Amino acid sequence: MTSSQESGTGLREKPGKVTPAMQQFYEAKRQYPDCIIFFRMGDFYETFCEDAEICAREMEITLTSRGRMPDGQDIPLAGIPYHALDGYLSRMISRGYKVAICEQIEDPKKAKGIVKRDVVRVVTPGTVIDAALLPGEGARYLMAAVPDKKRKRIGIAFLDISTGDFQISEVPAEGHGEELRAEAVRFRPAECIVPKGVEQEIERKLNRIIPLISPQDNSIFDLQGAEDLLCRQFSIQSLDSLGCCDIPAAITAAGAALTYAQKTQFDPLSHIRSLSRNLQSEYLVLDAVTLRNLEVVSNIRDRTEEGTLVKTIDMTQTPMGRRLLRRWITAPLKSVEAINQRLDAVEFFTHETILRQDLRQLLYRYADLERIAGRISYGNASPRDLVTLSDALTVASSVRGLFDSLADIPESIRISVREISDLQTLVTLIGQAIVDEPPLLIRKGGVIRDGYHEELDRLRLISRDGRQWVADLEQQEKERTGIKSLKIKYNAVFGFFIEITKANLSSVPDDYERRQTTANGERFTIPALREVESQIATADERLLSLEEELYTALLDTLREHVSALQETAHSMARIDLFAGLAESALKFRYVRPHLTDEPVLLVREGRHPVVEASLETGFVPNDAEMSASGEQILIITGANMAGKSTYMRSVALIIVMAQMGSFVPAGYAKVGLVDRIFTRVGAFDDLASGQSTFMVEMLELATIMNHATDQSLVILDEIGRGTSTLDGYCIARSVLEHLHGKKSKGPRTLFATHFHELVGVEEDLKRVRNCHFAVRETDKDVVFLRKLIPGATDRSYGIHVASLAGVPSPVIIRAEDLMKKVMRGEESPGGGVKRYTQMILLDAPATHSAVTPEPDPIREELDSIDVNSLTPLQALSLLADLKSRAKDLT
Ligand code: ADP
Repeated sequence: MTSSQESGTGLREKPGKVTPAMQQFYEAKRQYPDCIIFFRMGDFYETFCEDAEICAREMEITLTSRGRMPDGQDIPLAGIPYHALDGYLSRMISRGYKVAICEQIEDPKKAKGIVKRDVVRVVTPGTVIDAALLPGEGARYLMAAVPDKKRKRIGIAFLDISTGDFQISEVPAEGHGEELRAEAVRFRPAECIVPKGVEQEIERKLNRIIPLISPQDNSIFDLQGAEDLLCRQFSIQSLDSLGCCDIPAAITAAGAALTYAQKTQFDPLSHIRSLSRNLQSEYLVLDAVTLRNLEVVSNIRDRTEEGTLVKTIDMTQTPMGRRLLRRWITAPLKSVEAINQRLDAVEFFTHETILRQDLRQLLYRYADLERIAGRISYGNASPRDLVTLSDALTVASSVRGLFDSLADIPESIRISVREISDLQTLVTLIGQAIVDEPPLLIRKGGVIRDGYHEELDRLRLISRDGRQWVADLEQQEKERTGIKSLKIKYNAVFGFFIEITKANLSSVPDDYERRQTTANGERFTIPALREVESQIATADERLLSLEEELYTALLDTLREHVSALQETAHSMARIDLFAGLAESALKFRYVRPHLTDEPVLLVREGRHPVVEASLETGFVPNDAEMSASGEQILIITGANMAGKSTYMRSVALIIVMAQMGSFVPAGYAKVGLVDRIFTRVGAFDDLASGQSTFMVEMLELATIMNHATDQSLVILDEIGRGTSTLDGYCIARSVLEHLHGKKSKGPRTLFATHFHELVGVEEDLKRVRNCHFAVRETDKDVVFLRKLIPGATDRSYGIHVASLAGVPSPVIIRAEDLMKKVMRGEESPGGGVKRYTQMILLDAPATHSAVTPEPDPIREELDSIDVNSLTPLQALSLLADLKSRAKDLT
C-alpha cells in the first residue's frame, strides 16, 4: 500500500473553532499528514478522527468519541495507556503504518494554560531503531528509489538505521522492473520512499514485494542536496572517494534515505559513516524469481526460512554473523581471487579444530554489538545495553587473543583480527559507572554505581537515611501513642502518612492532622513527618535527574567510539561467519570448490544441501559436467519424482555456495564463474499479481532469453506446461534452439522436460546431451534409483506416481488398462493436439507413434534388400523402380 492512500488519511473536518488541545492535534497532523498521530494526554496516547478509526480496527481497542466538531459531528477517539506504547507501536508498524508521537513537552504542573505539545519522534516500518520494536536480529532496511528519466535508470539506496549499513546502486528503468525487484527481494526492505508522483510506477514494478511505499516531497530527492548532506555526514570533501560519481540517481536516493531517516529519528544518526556501492557487476546475480525457486533465503511454501539454504548452512553464533551470511548468500562474488580469500579462511578453520571450538564457545550468545553501537550513537542505549557491551568487548579482546600466537593465518582472518579495536578503556569506564545488574530503564534510577560520583553518593545517603528516619519516627510514635498497629506508609498521591485503625482512633494525640478517611481507619501527618518527607523528596528528585545527567554524559563519551565499535562488530561478524561455514562444511562433509574463470562446471558426487539434510535415508549423489562450448545443454528426462528438480537445484546451489565462499556438498567441484543464475521452475499462478500461470512462465522465459550470457547458468524445469501441448512443445523446442544458438558457445543449461519428443534435438544441435534418471522396473513395482545416466528415457511412470499418491485403485487400474490398449494400438488417443496431450497423460513411449502405422510396402521392400549383394547397376534400377512406385502410392 502507499502511505498516502491508507494510513493517517487526511481529516474529514477542517479545524474551525475547536479546543486548544485539538488545535495542537491538527497542527501535528498538518506537519505529518501521512502519519497516525499518537497524542499524549495525561496517562494516555489518544488518537482522533480517522486515525482513531484505523487504530481501533488495527489494535482492537475501543472507539469512543470526545467532544464535538463545530459542525456538531462527534470526534472519534481511541486511546492506549502510555506504558503500553511499545506493544501498540510495534503492531502498527508491522502493519505498514507510520506513527508520529506527539508528547507533552513541558511539565503539566508548571504549564500556564494548555500544556505545550510537539511531535518528538516518528516511527515508520523502515526506520525503527528501538530494541523493543525491533524484534529478531535480521537486518531492517529502509529503501529509497528514484527514477532518473533522462538516463533511464532508477537510483536505489538501502539503509539499515539500526546498524548503519548503507548501500546504493542503479538499475535500468525500462522493462518490467525485474532488476528493481531483484534488489528489493535481496534486501527485503520494510519501507520504500519514492518521490511524490512516481509511487504508482514504482509500486507496479515492485509488485507488492515491499509492505509500504511512502511518497515523499520531491525536495528531498535532490542531487546537489544529497551530495552536500553525504559529504557532511561522512566528513569528506567530495564523493569521489566513494567511487559513485557515475551513478547520480543512486546518490540522490542515498541523500533522500538519510534525510528521511534523520527527520523521523530527530537525530543526525552519526553512526552512519559511509556507504558502499552495491555493484551488480561484481556479484553473481540472483534475481527475485531465482532466489525464490532455489529457496535460498525463504521457502516457496510460507516464505519463512524453514527448509532454505541459508537456514541449513547457518552455524554462526552471533547476530552480526547471521546477518552477514544472509548478505553473502544473496550476493555471491564473481572474482576468483576474492572468493579464494574467503575459502582460505573457511579452510583454515576446518583444520584448526581446537581454535574453532574455543572461538565458537566464546561467541556463544554473543551480543548484537552492531545494533548496540547504533543505539549508543542515537542516544537510546539502555543501561543493560552498556553492561552487555562491556561483556562483548571483553570477549572481543579474548577473541583477538586466540590468534596472537598463530603464525600462518589467512589474509582475510588476519585483517579481521587486526580490526578488533582495543576498547578496554570503555570496559573499565562502564564497570566504574554502571551497577552489575542495572534496571532496563534509566528513568527510575539505580543505574549508576556507588562511588562513581560524589554528589550522587551524598544524595543517596540522604534518601536512604531518610527512609531510616521514617522507620525511627514510626517506632517513636508507636511508643508515644501506645498504638502498636501504627504504621507510616507511602503512596504517590499523599506521600508519607501515619495510618491508624478505627479501633485506635481514640488514642490519637492532638498534634495529629487528619489527611484522609479510609474504610478501615484514618490517615494523619505531623510536622516531623512532613519535614523528613520534603528532604527525601528533594533528594530523590535531584538523585534521578543527576543519574540521568551522568548517564547521558557516559553515552556521550561512548559515542566518540562508535566507529571503533562498528569495526569491531564487523570483524566479529566475519570471523564468526568463517568459523560457522567451516563448522557446516565439516558437519555435512562439504569440500572446497575450485574456482575458475572458464565457463565450465564439473561436479562429482554432488548433493542437494537442503534435501540431503532433511532425508533420513541417504541422498544419492550425482555428477554434472558441462561447459559453454562443449556439453552446454543437458536435456533431462525421467519419471515423475525421479529427482530431476532436486538435481538441477543442487547444481545451482553448489554454484551459489562456491561463489559466496563456502565449501560445497560434493566429492569434487570445479566451478567456472557464473554471472547470473536463471530459473524457470514449476508452474503456479501468481494470483497476487493477477497474472496467469502461463503469462508468468512466459515473462520469466523472456527474461532468460533476453539476458542469459555465455557465463550464465539456466535452469528450465518443465517449460511449456501451461498451454496446449503442441504449443508447449514448440515453445520448448525453439527455446532450446535459441539457447544453443549458432555460435560456438552459450549459457550452461539444464533442461528437464516431459516432452520426450525433445530428446531428438540431440541429433540436430551439437552441444546438447540427453540424460535421464534411472529407474528399476520389477514385475509389480518401479524403483527410483535417483541416478542420472547418459541417454534419454521414454517413460515417465505417471500412473505409478498417481498410485503412490493414493489415487483410488479403480482409476489406476483403468489408466493401466487404457495404456495397454493404446500401446497395442487397440485404442487411439486421436491425432493432432489431442494426440500429444494424451501421449503424455498415458505415458505412451514417445519414440513410437501412438497410432499403429499402416503397413508400408516400400518400407517392407527396403527392409528386405541386402545392399551388399547388389551390383551398382542393380542398385540404380531398383532405386528407379522404388521411386516410381512411391509416386504411384501418393
Ligand atoms: P522430479 O523433479 O523428477 O519430479 P524431484 O526432484 O522433485 O523429482 O524429487 C522427488 C523427491 O525425491 C524429492 O522430494 C526428494 O525427497 C527425493 N530425491 C530427489 N533426488 C534425490 C536423491 N538424489 N537422493 C535421494 N532422494 C532424492
